[in-house]
Amino acid sequence: MIVAHRREGAILPEVDKRSAYAPFWRSLDRNVPLGPKLIVPVILVTLLGTGGFGFVEAIRTNNAVEAAYVESATANARAASNAFYSTISDPPAVSQYLADLASADPNIRGIWIVNLVLPDAQVVASSRPAEIVSKPLLSDQEILVVESGQTTHEKQTIAGEPMLETIVPVKGNAYAVVVETSLKAESETLTTTLISAAAVALLTCLLEVTALAMILETGVLRRIRRVGKAVDAFGRGMRHDRLSEGSEPEGRDALFNLARNMDHKLGELSERERAGTVVSELGLLALQGALPSDLTLKALDITREAGDLERCFLVDTSGAVTIVGSSGGARAETSAAKLPVWLGALVRSATQARRPILADGFGQDCRYWEAGAANVSAAAAFVPLAGTPNPIGVMVGVARPGGHISPVTVSMMEAVATALGESLQRSEAEKARHESEAKSKALSTVSHEMRNPLNAMLGFSNLLLTGAAGQLNEKQQSYVRRVDEASNHLLRLVNDYLDLARVMNGSLPVQPEAVVVGPEVQNVLDLLGPSAEAKNVSLHSEVPAEATARADRLRLRQVLMNLVSNAIKFTPARGHVRVEVAGGSNGVRISVIDTGIGIPVDRQHLVFTEFAQLRPDGRNEGSGLGLALTKRFVDAMGGFIRFTSSEGAGTIFDVWLPGEQSPRHSAEAAKADERTVGAA
Ligand code: ADP
Repeated sequence: MIVAHRREGAILPEVDKRSAYAPFWRSLDRNVPLGPKLIVPVILVTLLGTGGFGFVEAIRTNNAVEAAYVESATANARAASNAFYSTISDPPAVSQYLADLASADPNIRGIWIVNLVLPDAQVVASSRPAEIVSKPLLSDQEILVVESGQTTHEKQTIAGEPMLETIVPVKGNAYAVVVETSLKAESETLTTTLISAAAVALLTCLLEVTALAMILETGVLRRIRRVGKAVDAFGRGMRHDRLSEGSEPEGRDALFNLARNMDHKLGELSERERAGTVVSELGLLALQGALPSDLTLKALDITREAGDLERCFLVDTSGAVTIVGSSGGARAETSAAKLPVWLGALVRSATQARRPILADGFGQDCRYWEAGAANVSAAAAFVPLAGTPNPIGVMVGVARPGGHISPVTVSMMEAVATALGESLQRSEAEKARHESEAKSKALSTVSHEMRNPLNAMLGFSNLLLTGAAGQLNEKQQSYVRRVDEASNHLLRLVNDYLDLARVMNGSLPVQPEAVVVGPEVQNVLDLLGPSAEAKNVSLHSEVPAEATARADRLRLRQVLMNLVSNAIKFTPARGHVRVEVAGGSNGVRISVIDTGIGIPVDRQHLVFTEFAQLRPDGRNEGSGLGLALTKRFVDAMGGFIRFTSSEGAGTIFDVWLPGEQSPRHSAEAAKADERTVGAA
């Protein structure tokens, strides 16, 4: 059965050990309150313990007393025997002696000397001579035993009184001494011992029950009731009633620790709950189309409130700082220049670590560490906002004076930062898409109209430049050349745009064929060589002769032109641009590497978006169509494109194209891979 479960990948239900007990015990467990459950067994054990001990003690005492009685009776009998032996001829003197002996011990009821030879062992001397002994003192059995010379002790009840009868033979065995000792005192001692034991047991029980009830009430039941109340309150309104145990260090009492853990867990849950509310509130605002600035302000404000923080502010990667203070809602903006150096350093650490950084203070000489690394209470938390490929800002929370930021608050800040980062990026991408759509619409209407006049302008300017319409002077030639250049630029733009529009609606024909990559690269380098030279940028290539891609030759050329011209355009003087090709007939990777200005991290997600403005300073020279078109062309040829870029260090664009012998599906697989990685 278990094997079958495992094979099907099922998770075996955990066996509840309680269900193994009989229903009777389970019902007892359920219905008997904790107090009686603890107190009743204690009472029983105490009663049994003290009662049993008292009983044993009483028996022991009783035996000791009895042994003393036996000893005393035997001694008296011996003394009587001796006296009788020496004065056998004077029975009244013997009787007097016996009476003296008996009166010396209050427990002795009587001492008799009997003649064993006479019938019924007749009494010959007695401590109570006045008393008439009506019936024989000894039974036949006793007579036989004493005649054999043995001493006997026998317990009897005479006239309702417990009695010890001691029979001792007198020398020669013709006589015997009989001593009767009352055991009344002994039985009274036994009763007293038993009553005392019972009283001690009851008193102990009483004390135990009182002590137990007090301990149960103060240490257990009250605590359980408080924990129960806190759980109920939390269940009703997600409100966290603090338990005093929560603020104390862990102890050795399991119940105390349970209450303490419960307090922490409830605290965590309620903070999580609040974090959830905060995040959903943010999501709602984002859905309602709130402006990014309003969204940021709201996120900071609710985070500050939910985490009970002194201040909460956002430093975005461009350095702008939005501050929301403890007075709530108040917004202030400040610039990166005003940001203290140490704060900037912590913000950068959080961005690079992509994890929250915590600091033990807020100032020049604070210590800092990654969240989860140390169990030190934090006074400030730096939480990076989600962003692709890098965080787009850092949310900073500052605890109130003397307070600290709990791990749950850090988690909440993380959740808010993720939601805010995603919302901000989404709204930015949305904005870019809207702008792009608007431009597309406007452009698509004019593009068609522009191509004919542009071609006409180019044709006529060519005619003028070749001198077919008469010789131009130098000034005129220079003006017409500028008209020609501008018309060419415009025509390229119009063509790019129309290509893009056709790729997007699927009407651009792509005709894959085996293209040897080397000559195509060379062709592009030849064309762009002069512009690189003019900028003092070195241009190199490294292409294995056998590299053959399955591509549309014209589109491949356009892709290479776009990438290499961008590389030259964005590489300052004395920089380098290199085209590297790797692979063979199974697939080709073309890398265009430059040592240029790079693409800012916070704009990289917009690289392939049409008309996107990548430089915040608006220094974009081009239309913003080249890379969008490049990606569409590469996709259409069954390849994929990725890039890595670092501001100030350079950029690498990698284009993978199927090889001559690549099966169709491998290109598809590569595309799928690309989507998963999401780099392009
Ligand atoms: P454009 O026609 O404006 O150059 P692209 O789509 O070709 O449009 O490029 C979009 C933007 O990407 C450029 O404006 C530039 O900011 C950035 N970019 C492209 N290639 C590079 C590169 N090699 N180095 C730095 N930035 C680049």
